[in-house]
Amino acid sequence: MFDNLSDRLSGALKNLTGKGKINEDNIKETLREVRMALLEADVALPVVKEFIAAVKERAVGAEVGKALDPGQAFIKIVNDEMIKAMGAENDALDLNAKPPVVILLAGLQGAGKTTSAGKLSHLLINREKKSVMVASADVYRPAAIKQLETVAGEVGATFFPSTTEQKPVDIAKNAIEEARKQFADVVIIDTAGRLAVDEAMMSEISELQQAINPTETLFVVDSMTGQDAANTAKAFNDALDLSGVILTKADGDARGGAALSIRQITGKPIKFIGMGEKLDQLEPFHPERVASRILGMGDVLSLIEEVERKVDKKKAEKVAKKIMKGKGFDLQDFREQLMQMSNMGGMAGLMDKLPGMGQIPEAAKQKVMNDKSTGRMIAMINSMTPKERARPELIKGSRKKRIANGSGTQIQDVNRLLKQFNQMQKMMKKMKGKGGMMKMMRGMQ
Ligand code: GDP
Repeated sequence: MFDNLSDRLSGALKNLTGKGKINEDNIKETLREVRMALLEADVALPVVKEFIAAVKERAVGAEVGKALDPGQAFIKIVNDEMIKAMGAENDALDLNAKPPVVILLAGLQGAGKTTSAGKLSHLLINREKKSVMVASADVYRPAAIKQLETVAGEVGATFFPSTTEQKPVDIAKNAIEEARKQFADVVIIDTAGRLAVDEAMMSEISELQQAINPTETLFVVDSMTGQDAANTAKAFNDALDLSGVILTKADGDARGGAALSIRQITGKPIKFIGMGEKLDQLEPFHPERVASRILGMGDVLSLIEEVERKVDKKKAEKVAKKIMKGKGFDLQDFREQLMQMSNMGGMAGLMDKLPGMGQIPEAAKQKVMNDKSTGRMIAMINSMTPKERARPELIKGSRKKRIANGSGTQIQDVNRLLKQFNQMQKMMKKMKGKGGMMKMMRGMQ
């Protein structure tokens, strides 16, 4: 996600760190590169202009000159401004309204509305413990109604049937009435999209909005469309009173222009971000975390949250704390990580969220993290004594043989495990050595 932008920006900012002095010349050069990076990421021009002006004003002011590490102070400014552009903090759904809370989804065809209706249901059912009903007001495509029914079945939402002969307003009103009768907490109304913004669609959806007066009207938009996403959002926002945006397909978007433009252009917050086709791949949008991800600091907060949700909380906290502190990372920790990661269905997704991982080439990551071998790696560590786990350097000839025998593996496998562990340990040390993310974060408070 947003890899190209992240590479470009961290490249530009790297030139500044380590420089004892920051002067107008190198600030100018860095700003030029940041500007290029944003434009290449397809951030809307007015947003780029405002962003650069704000960074420049703060950078040439007292803030940077007085800082102990001017490079870091500059990065902090870029980070702050990026967060500001995206909206400071997560805007949650308003779930306090009198039930049923009505959520209307709008957007172009193919943006991911129906998928998002399913994802949102999944999230509300599992995380908020709400009962959810969904209905489709897409009276143009019978397949869309069927698709919503399937998705609802998968996530455990109640499907309110509709047909292409009905009027969208009637479908929505009937669904809300039914949700009230069934004491559903939330009702999500999926709507028809068009290939491009057109009058008929706009008047249909605005009529629908006026008729049902939803608590939330969320605009669903494809992140890959870059600044066009922001412009389409604006067109919808002019016709409808949007309460927020769901940015889909961010998993495939290397640029990030939509994420950085939408808030400024529409004044409306991105509330959720779609990170894949699966129905559990919708996350609340946290500007500060996305900014730190773009700047290559890793999304440690999301990581911890994800780990907490899916694995043993206490152990996860311990390991996460250790990682964050950059303290001695031993084989016992490695084992915990392996266990958690295999619980979470593979390491690849998790790796990207660790700080510093952005810089590690994909091939190297794959080599270290071959999912298939996770079980064997855990078995080998299980066959070690606590002393060996704490001090892997003790593991020589006869110990290796014992471990291999105990875990049903070969000595080469043990060697490989130790090598992989060493690589991990080095990465952890490097994060600590560089002052790592913690130092950076402290600098930002
Ligand atoms: P709709 O026409 O707006 O209802 O769009 P759909 O919900 O049918 O989605 C269109 C396509 O986008 C489908 O193939 C979805 O699987 C895909 N999609 C939706 N959200 C995401 C996402 O966050 N990431 C990825 N990779 N694909 C998504």
